[in-house]
Amino acid sequence: MSQTTETKETPYKPTSPNSKLDFASVWEYAPAPESSDHVEIKDQYQLFIDGKFVKPSKGRYFKSTNPATTEVITEFAEATQNDVDKAVKAARKAFKGEWSSLAPKTRGKYLYRIARMLQERSREFSVLESMDGGKPIRESRDVDVPLAAAHFFYYAGWADKLDYAFPGKTPEPLGVCGQIIPWNFPLLMLAWKIAPALACGNTVVLKPAETTSLTALKFAELVKDAGVPAGVINIVTGAGQTGAEIVNHKDIDKIAFTGSTGVGKLIQKSLAGTDKKFTLELGGKGALIVFEDAPIDQAVEGIINAIFFNQGHVCCAGSRLLVQEGVADLVTQKLKDRMETLIVGDPLDKNTDIGAINSSQQFETINSYLEIGVDEGADVYQSKCSIPENGYFIRPTLLANVAQSNRVVQEEIFGPVLTVQTFRTADEAIDKANNTPFGLAGGVWTDKGSKIFKVGAGLRSGVVWANTYNKFDPTSPFGGYKESGVGREGGLHGLSAYVKLK
Ligand code: ADP
Repeated sequence: MSQTTETKETPYKPTSPNSKLDFASVWEYAPAPESSDHVEIKDQYQLFIDGKFVKPSKGRYFKSTNPATTEVITEFAEATQNDVDKAVKAARKAFKGEWSSLAPKTRGKYLYRIARMLQERSREFSVLESMDGGKPIRESRDVDVPLAAAHFFYYAGWADKLDYAFPGKTPEPLGVCGQIIPWNFPLLMLAWKIAPALACGNTVVLKPAETTSLTALKFAELVKDAGVPAGVINIVTGAGQTGAEIVNHKDIDKIAFTGSTGVGKLIQKSLAGTDKKFTLELGGKGALIVFEDAPIDQAVEGIINAIFFNQGHVCCAGSRLLVQEGVADLVTQKLKDRMETLIVGDPLDKNTDIGAINSSQQFETINSYLEIGVDEGADVYQSKCSIPENGYFIRPTLLANVAQSNRVVQEEIFGPVLTVQTFRTADEAIDKANNTPFGLAGGVWTDKGSKIFKVGAGLRSGVVWANTYNKFDPTSPFGGYKESGVGREGGLHGLSAYVKLK
């Protein structure tokens, strides 16, 4: 466990008469660490190709660290062109052979089996997810792993009902799908990608992100134990170059990518002129619109969840607060009060609200945005909590006094940093909310249903939550407008991305 620095010298005092919480005395919690004794982490992991763990052709490996301690926890194989080619060949062989001709009901049974095994091993998966990626155990245990299992359950149900999903048409699988996923929800993004692909009869070559490959390889062990036919699921590890080998492989029928808008644009360029299908789920800069008639305490909880969930490493994070002028001071003060109660620290401690920033690189990116904010004239407010001495941690942060044109308002920071702006009318809120290159998600808090409909219709965002935020469900489609991506994942829409309709 990490050590903590003592920064209790100035106990926080609420400054507004509207503040109800009393922080005059320091709150302390006894540590409640989740045990990691039951998890096995090997010293080295191989590639998972054609149902076997195989060494990388060039014999190269890269190290993976625990971002909360900066200790190396294991190393992963670096897949090169030759390895990606082997994985694609295995996936093609499985597609032409057993898998696509299997009775849909039997395909569904494999998916159900995977879902149940994920549930059975959920403790192991959640601890590994938190150790490898830095997210609080409460989130990996209560969100990531259960939702990953839920996706397999949901798509298992569709496997033998595709004719009902596309009435009047004959759905056919696409073939071999190349899938590239990011580091913010490693197991969950894997489930988003693999479950619908398999339900529709495709085979896959998946690449997890280089800083968070551990649960994907544990998942490969589970796939073996579940007896999924060899070659149906192949997992290759590596960095951007390995991803590019997948994108450019001639025998891949579809690319599914979740990651940054920059890499998404590169992928789209590489795919131009080919007949590969693709879905891209990219960045976001979600707006949280709070009206004067909103249930304010509920809105404050929603904002806290929208920006600080998973350290703000969420593409649909609500990272821009737009608050109506009449309640701006009240909401800001309540937000600051609530931020003081957030515990930043050891991801394996069950009390922790905000864990470690995923990597040194992301830590530097977020800090550089804080500097940009200061240079742009923002007022920076950070909670005064103690943070561990080692590892990559950032206190929850508000940037007030910002302008619409500021980089911190326009660009995705992907960290626990919220900008605060005000508005007077609903139209102004909608204009400001839409005025970024992104359009993935947004939230609105108001007592009036009519305002919810007006704002919901006005926002150019794939998802709009009303009086809540970050609610996910496998039955519900997810995806972006503008530079936030192309295509939808989840729900019925998620199936159509993996079939040809005749
Ligand atoms: P982030 O900025 O969130 O780290 P990236 O878009 O860089 O997100 O990474 C998301 C995934 O895309 C990772 O698995 C990464 O290895 C992969 N990736 C990075 N560069 C490329 C590329 N040029 N082609 C294909 N995949 C890539």
